[in-house]
Amino acid sequence: MKVVISQDFDARKRADLLIVPYWEGPKAASQTEVRSPGISALLDSGDFKGKHGETALLYPEERQETRLVLLGLGKKNESDPERLRRAFSAAAKAAQSKKAKDIHLLFPECHSVRGVFEGIFLTDYAYTELKGDSLKDSPVLFERLTVFDLDKKFQNEIDRLQETASAVHFIRDLVNGNADDVTPERFVKEAKAMATKGLQITILDRKRLEKEGVGLLVAVGQGARYEPAMILAEYKGAPKSKEHILLVGKGITFDTGGLCLKPPDNMLSMKSDMAGAATVLAAVKLAAAFGLKVNVTAIAPVAENAIGSRSYKLGDVYRSVSGKTVEIMNTDAEGRLILADAIAYGVKHLRPTSIVDLGTLTGAIVIALGEEISGLFTNSEAIAKDLQSASASTGENIWRMPLFDYKESLRSDIADIANVGGRDAGSMKCALFIQEFTGGVPWAHIDMAGPGFISKPKHYNPTKGTGWGLRLLIDFLQLQAGK
Ligand SMILES: [Zn+2]
Repeated sequence: MKVVISQDFDARKRADLLIVPYWEGPKAASQTEVRSPGISALLDSGDFKGKHGETALLYPEERQETRLVLLGLGKKNESDPERLRRAFSAAAKAAQSKKAKDIHLLFPECHSVRGVFEGIFLTDYAYTELKGDSLKDSPVLFERLTVFDLDKKFQNEIDRLQETASAVHFIRDLVNGNADDVTPERFVKEAKAMATKGLQITILDRKRLEKEGVGLLVAVGQGARYEPAMILAEYKGAPKSKEHILLVGKGITFDTGGLCLKPPDNMLSMKSDMAGAATVLAAVKLAAAFGLKVNVTAIAPVAENAIGSRSYKLGDVYRSVSGKTVEIMNTDAEGRLILADAIAYGVKHLRPTSIVDLGTLTGAIVIALGEEISGLFTNSEAIAKDLQSASASTGENIWRMPLFDYKESLRSDIADIANVGGRDAGSMKCALFIQEFTGGVPWAHIDMAGPGFISKPKHYNPTKGTGWGLRLLIDFLQLQAGK
């Protein structure tokens, strides 16, 4: 979609639709005089009050636009970026429902360019790759958005928001794709295509992983016909700084549960189990594209957790690159194994000063927090503060959970540690397990099993893959760059 800011409303060309935002009031008020008899009658009737997310569609005669969408923004004193995101998502959906491609927008009197445009950009998405006959029913994507009543100086910010939204869509596409298409190999291919002057991509294939002793990742991937790999994407935007952030994302391209086979209901969404890996790779790509002044490396361990004669075994012990041995008490707790190995590899070779890992880890976190909130576990107040601040500005919700000393439950009789320790406090025990591989580096763990893949559309997120966490990580990296 091409987005342009125009100063000349009167000289505008024809378009499919004009979005006219209104704040809620006794009689809805818009700062721009675009009223026509049709609008006056609607407002006078009291049928449209400007309530948050309310829309009304009009077909006035003698206008440049075929349709008007009146959009309610709610009460002005309650407005914030997230409310704007949701309201403008409603307007975008109203436009989609009429298959409008060329949109005019009157920018409202508000302080968040970000809220308005993210609401539109994040909604302007359709996953159609796997459609056949029903392709015609899919949302039509916008081709052109012309914005009025906005200073031209915001064009750069809009371009950046659009690039970020494109990266979110890229993650959604990978999450929504068939697991037999989005394989570890496909991840390697996508990562190689990301390489630019400032972004160095390194691939460790299975042979190299075995040689380096990354035994947990190799074990998890050994049952699949697709070989596991570890992808490193390194960007040094602050060469003089000693700070180096490690972002590690879970990349299980399909999770059957392994020999501890999942029941069908739980397996249904498991092509999404690679969302974390897609997110960290996209984050570093964007950091490089934006030239953020940070040193950051994404590590994406990718593997399929398949069931078969070569699957890794229950009760067996496998060795991590850190040297720690792990007794497998449940083959479905594989995400923590590959994250632990990737983190240990990073700690050993890259000397990070902070680590953030994320992935779709546990069903327990969805029980605790639902589909709209991820769990945050961290031993660093500084990282917690910045992630919570990034969460507030992006609307990507995280809730801090405790890291209580339940480590005893992960005790193994024959190895250094077991990979699970009972069902209770399952998400926390997963975090405690991973913490054992961080080498004392300040660290945070985000369990995004809820928001990474959702069962029905919610605001600007479509059903299934959401691309959750990318905007959070970018804002987090921006905060680090400001230090
Ligand atoms: Zn699993």
